[in-house]
Amino acid sequence: MLAIAIFLVAAQINGGATAQSQPSFKTWLESFWTDAERAGITRATFDRAFAGVEPDLALPDLILPGKQEPRPGGQAEFSRTPEQYINREQIARLAKQGRELAARHKAILDRVEQQVSVDRAAVLAIWGRETAFGSHRPRHDVIRVLATQAYTGRRPDLFRGELIFALRLLQEGIVARNDMRGSWAGAMGLTQFMPSEFYGSGIDLDGDGKLDLFGSTADALGSAARQLQQKGWIKGLPWGIEVKLGPKVDCANEGPANSRPIGEWAKLGVTRANGKPFAPDLLKHDAYLMSPAGAFGPSFLATDNFKAIRAYNMSDLYAVFVGHLADRIAGGGDFKTPWRDVRQLPDRDIAEIQSKLKQRGAAIDKIDGKIGSNTRWQIGQYERRARIDVGCWPRQEVLEHLRKGVADVR
Ligand code: CA
Repeated sequence: MLAIAIFLVAAQINGGATAQSQPSFKTWLESFWTDAERAGITRATFDRAFAGVEPDLALPDLILPGKQEPRPGGQAEFSRTPEQYINREQIARLAKQGRELAARHKAILDRVEQQVSVDRAAVLAIWGRETAFGSHRPRHDVIRVLATQAYTGRRPDLFRGELIFALRLLQEGIVARNDMRGSWAGAMGLTQFMPSEFYGSGIDLDGDGKLDLFGSTADALGSAARQLQQKGWIKGLPWGIEVKLGPKVDCANEGPANSRPIGEWAKLGVTRANGKPFAPDLLKHDAYLMSPAGAFGPSFLATDNFKAIRAYNMSDLYAVFVGHLADRIAGGGDFKTPWRDVRQLPDRDIAEIQSKLKQRGAAIDKIDGKIGSNTRWQIGQYERRARIDVGCWPRQEVLEHLRKGVADVR
């Protein structure tokens, strides 16, 4: 009887969907308990964490019975155009606040640079991007978010692991149950750490014996810096340099696969957008060309520090936002090249472009409807072969051209 009652409740939660192979949340939770117990979580912690918790089926990225595909939309990085995402007014406002905070927290930032060897402006920019310097009110209960994603999300294994770490944070008294509030993906604190990152990158920088990523600016900034350092940050190296491409290089040279020393880019005729020469000590550093809006906006030579920021949140636009905000906090100006008007095609059209390019032999792993470096590069390569304008951006014209299937263009 009990099992039937639970199934009916689950069916109601799922919008009255008919029988599916998916277990009810309660059944799933008991199977998860086995994992939690094996990881050293006590039943008392487990019950305290999940008291009153039901799945939140309004979250993005879930696979729900009766629905065709997961609802995206959780990630602004992939649903707005570059110009909309790297919003000029927002950047100017955050840069101004960032400069004030740099003065106020000078002692902390000195310690960050000395102990963790990451530039202060980059750490401030992460803080600004993630929570507008702590002014965001986190909307979600992290236990609920992680449990929902582990129960019925697209990446259950990842979230199952994060949920175990969240239970450890609770059990070890690092985060109180009431403080477990964060993003739709379960990131918490001033610089938005996933539970596993508390363990992997957390530093008690203020030395009070407690890791506090909510209330201690020193701990939060120190920990964000440590994460950048672990991802390969090189102190003093720019994240990226805005460039003009010249006649021998176009946007179809984009991407990590075409990485080469900055000195070689210079030999190919690539110049700084501000007209100044590249600093001599930069010439030996590897960089790859990155044009977030293809030919319709600024292009950058992206260094290892760009990759480090990108590892914080896997998106070119996120990394350009943070890198540019850091430059602005440090006193730099706006981009030299304006964004031109580009339209964001619907995800399914971008996916169709990816799929048709793949059929023609392009090296595309994921048909995900998201515009990344590789998708822009492959579009550019196709446009070159097809002898149409090289834009490196998923445009309607490219889609139409691919649909026509012109015979001599592979
Ligand atoms: Ca502390």
